[in-house]
Amino acid sequence: MKFLGFTSTGVVHLLTIYTGAAIYQNGVSQNTFQEIKEEIAHYKDVAKAIINLAVYGEAQNRSYERLSLLVDTVGPRLSGSKNLEKAIQIMYQNLQDDRLENVHLEPVKIPHWERGEESAMMLEPRLHKMAILGLGSSIGTPHEGITAEVLVVTSFDELRRRASEARGKIVVYNQPYVNYSKSVQYRVSGAVEAAKVGALASLIRSVTSFSIYSPHTGIQKYQDGVPKIPTACITVEDAEMVARMASRGSRVVVQLKMGAKNYPDVDSFNTVAEIIGRKYPEQVVLVSGHLDSWDVGQGAMDDGGGAFISWEALSLIKDLGLRPKRTLRLVLWTAEEQGGIGAFQYYQQHKANISNYSLVMESDLGTFLPSGLQFTGSEKARAIMKEVMKLLQPINVTQLFTAGEGTDISFWIQAGVPGASLLDDLYKYFSFHHSRGDTMTVMDPEQMNVAAAVWAVVSYVIADREEMLPRN
Ligand SMILES: [Zn+2]
Repeated sequence: MKFLGFTSTGVVHLLTIYTGAAIYQNGVSQNTFQEIKEEIAHYKDVAKAIINLAVYGEAQNRSYERLSLLVDTVGPRLSGSKNLEKAIQIMYQNLQDDRLENVHLEPVKIPHWERGEESAMMLEPRLHKMAILGLGSSIGTPHEGITAEVLVVTSFDELRRRASEARGKIVVYNQPYVNYSKSVQYRVSGAVEAAKVGALASLIRSVTSFSIYSPHTGIQKYQDGVPKIPTACITVEDAEMVARMASRGSRVVVQLKMGAKNYPDVDSFNTVAEIIGRKYPEQVVLVSGHLDSWDVGQGAMDDGGGAFISWEALSLIKDLGLRPKRTLRLVLWTAEEQGGIGAFQYYQQHKANISNYSLVMESDLGTFLPSGLQFTGSEKARAIMKEVMKLLQPINVTQLFTAGEGTDISFWIQAGVPGASLLDDLYKYFSFHHSRGDTMTVMDPEQMNVAAAVWAVVSYVIADREEMLPRN
């Protein structure tokens, strides 16, 4: 692994800019907000140093180069696959080569599903080979496939109204794209709802607002007591065409073949590295992204970018010779795509320590040019975060939005820990999300530099302030 060495000129100066007295008493801040503002403003030079290194200095394009080397070498990293195992081993080595501290792997049992061979052929009203991607955890079809007439619906409500027409058919969902979190319910629960009304299989319009005939996969979930039926996503183009054909009264017949299989859970790991805090080493600011991906494309954007700017944040801070008061912990989650499996097990194993987590951060919505951070926390914490964002004025990323989120930090946020996530161009993100198009070609090294700078400045300042972020 390439290591960029940096001289530590100026670093001693940076470290001595702020030396706060102990100002926490009985867990309540003794500082006025004016004092907190001044404390944060003192980080202006440190923030500039991080930005200069990441965006204009020796570290520019490093996260992009590191990421491209991994994803070109390993490829996609599906939960349970040899590729994911290999990626974890490589990252374990990379983080040690980067001379980060406490580099280790934490064991996790994760699902193992493989899609196998799959195809869908429209037989009536005309022959047409449809692009599909089976959905994660779906069962396969019998070897000869499932051949049936389709019933097209645009919503679960319509499916229930037309329940009597669904028996023995393949349900095609042509739901409109509202936004990801609303529309994704069709991918997650489409098979269960179709099975409840007697359908043999379900095909779901890909959850995206833009398409060049690319299916987008993702996880789906069966329900106990409801028959399991095979399910796949189809393209926006095919969903709309099938809907037009049906609305003209044409009988549409599709033959679906899927070789998908679920195997027993396998051993995997969350990958962890730290810069250990110099004053409150037991207290933590966590930065994270997930290392696993779907099995198509390269998982470069989802979530290679998030994982690698999180690594980059620690690299930048280390290269400047900085050591924050509390520990900066990098976690590369495993099996996020299967429902945050690695993150949930991490939470179970570490929640006893929850009072020591100042801030949890996750980047899993792309690492394009950031528009700001999404944040969930108390009003007091939000006011502090707004001050921290002012330090990012030189790269013009100062906005603090609501609703910090991410599958992998949601457990902590729900338990009251302040959480932050990186926000950028969601239209672009969901255009490539979970598709064959998620490759290095959609990534931009300069945008990753800026994203990494944001990640490093925020995590460093929160880790180094005298007080933890206040909770409700
Ligand atoms: Zn993701």
